[in-house]
Amino acid sequence: MVVARSLPDPTEAISAPSAPSGDDAVDALARRWAQLISPEDPSSRARLDPLLRRLRAAVRAEPFWPTAVRRVGAALLSSGLPDGPFGAVGPAAEDVLPTTLRLLRTEGRAALGQSGPEGTRRLAAALDELAAGFAGAVRERMLDGQQEALRANGELRSQLAQASLQDRLTRLPNRSLTEQRLRAEFAPGAARRVGLCALDVDGFKAINEGLGHQVGNQLLLAVAGRLQLAAGPHLVSRTGGDEFAVLVVGSEGCDDVCRLADRLLAALASPFLVAGHSLTVSASIGVTETATSGACPEELMRAADVALSWAKGRGGGRRVVFDPERDAGEAARFALRAGMRGGIERGELRLAFQPLVALTDGTVKGVEALVRWQHPEQGLLGPAQFIEPAEHSGAIVPLGRWVLAQACRRAAQWRSELGAQAPYVSVNVSPVQLTERAWVHEVTAVLQETGLPPELLQLEITEQAVLGDEAAARQALVALRSAGVRLALDDFGIGYSGLAWLRRLPVHALKIDGSFIDGLRHPAADPVDEAIVRAMVEMAHVLGLEVTAEWVETVVQADRLTQLGCDLGQGRWFGDAGPAGWVTELCRRRMGS
Ligand code: C2E
Ligand code: MG
Ligand code: MG
Repeated sequence: MVVARSLPDPTEAISAPSAPSGDDAVDALARRWAQLISPEDPSSRARLDPLLRRLRAAVRAEPFWPTAVRRVGAALLSSGLPDGPFGAVGPAAEDVLPTTLRLLRTEGRAALGQSGPEGTRRLAAALDELAAGFAGAVRERMLDGQQEALRANGELRSQLAQASLQDRLTRLPNRSLTEQRLRAEFAPGAARRVGLCALDVDGFKAINEGLGHQVGNQLLLAVAGRLQLAAGPHLVSRTGGDEFAVLVVGSEGCDDVCRLADRLLAALASPFLVAGHSLTVSASIGVTETATSGACPEELMRAADVALSWAKGRGGGRRVVFDPERDAGEAARFALRAGMRGGIERGELRLAFQPLVALTDGTVKGVEALVRWQHPEQGLLGPAQFIEPAEHSGAIVPLGRWVLAQACRRAAQWRSELGAQAPYVSVNVSPVQLTERAWVHEVTAVLQETGLPPELLQLEITEQAVLGDEAAARQALVALRSAGVRLALDDFGIGYSGLAWLRRLPVHALKIDGSFIDGLRHPAADPVDEAIVRAMVEMAHVLGLEVTAEWVETVVQADRLTQLGCDLGQGRWFGDAGPAGWVTELCRRRMGS
């Protein structure tokens, strides 16, 4: 479905005089358009030219921008070219929309920059939107207190009403009509339940592009027919290119609407015979159902659209019911992502430190820095809640920079407090950071600034970090290693790295993923789990790497890992992540001072 965009419409800034010269197709079409709709008016060309350029920009936008096309439709009505103010509308205005649509359909492709099957589809969609925008503007004017004059022109009114409420291809009601119906259902005093199914034909674009627009249209017609049959008395509308909606007024609960959705899916299951092709299609449906009191039609439509996107996200061919909790979770993640940079700047990040302890003598060899976010509204958040969103938004770069600087500063302090016994600090590096051009330079600059010897910094990377852009990642790792920084491969064992690959990786240490250590929890553990950990430890040692086991939670696990020859342990048994001062104390205690 069309997602409303609230951005300003940049196509509005495009005006005729500043348009690129030499755009002959646009000039010629504007001339033709003016001749057709207002041959007597010398200023008509100057008024239509900017509209045509806005239209062209909106149709060519990536992705296609239906809202902007609608605005052009509305602007056409207010351009003054339909005869005078709408109250005194004459036959010229009556013709403006059909004449415009006909002209654009037959001669508009070059000027609007559309070619091939996608161009045909876009042009058709654009004409629909243009008509909807024009008709919508007509309705607005009606509401502007000029109904009297319009009523005098019955013919125009019925034409425009039809154009604005009916889909031209399938003759089904369009989105506007569905919206109108919904608004009526939600009117105060009309308390009842309503349900909405938003349906999208899976892979329709491929059919349209592969077999052509004509076949696509026929398929949509056939789909519309089957949906109508399956929906029985409920209102079926075409809400977009390959999108339909079914409105259930007076529903008997969500199950009722789900049963309808299942009937709709079943109705599309058998192949369609279209223009000699046997086409098998599936569809995705978003289902929502609510009482009209305390809700609004916009919410209902949004809920159906959101559920539809979830159905699509799961591969299509299914119905998914809207879940307000899931929706709120997604909205919260979105808000988190948007607020992260501000959080970093306001100093809301914190570091917790967890010891990496030598299994043979219990000394603290290293300390992993783990980031937390003290969110002003949501409280203390763990990395699982914000690292991935930060990677997507790019906020991971300033976040990682902050973590590195802070961790190195703290490690330099431990060094001055503990001397030669000071632990190294181990910092997690996101795949996004590793291939940042300035990353290596930033690391060395921080070391210099804080005075931390490079061997007291360990960077933890994951397999994915190296596999993404392998050449760039390797280059960064080699540079860091030659700068004297320690490197560890984190969460080892859950990826796919082979021995040969590992051998070429310039790392000093492996951290065995906690899921393997979990298997060593009980005295009578599965011997295979133990054999796997043993093999990993031995392999690491053959490659000259230090091995740390993560998630060591019990003395049983710690003892077995010691027997298996694992070097270091990290986990609750040795201590959860805590404040920096606690690490100093712990190190002193383990040193026996
Ligand atoms: P990781 O690097 O594998 O870190 C170890 C995680 O295991 C930490 O979770 C730690 O609190 C948890 N853990 C420690 N001991 C135990 C135990 O005995 N049992 C169990 N079940 N878990 C234990 P945390 O702090 O939630 O961090 C999760 C992940 O977030 C980290 O996994 C790391 O991948 C990422 N992360 C943390 N800090 C940063 C950071 O500063 N930058 C980046 N890029 N990622 C970070
Ligand atoms: Mg880690
Ligand atoms: Mg790990």
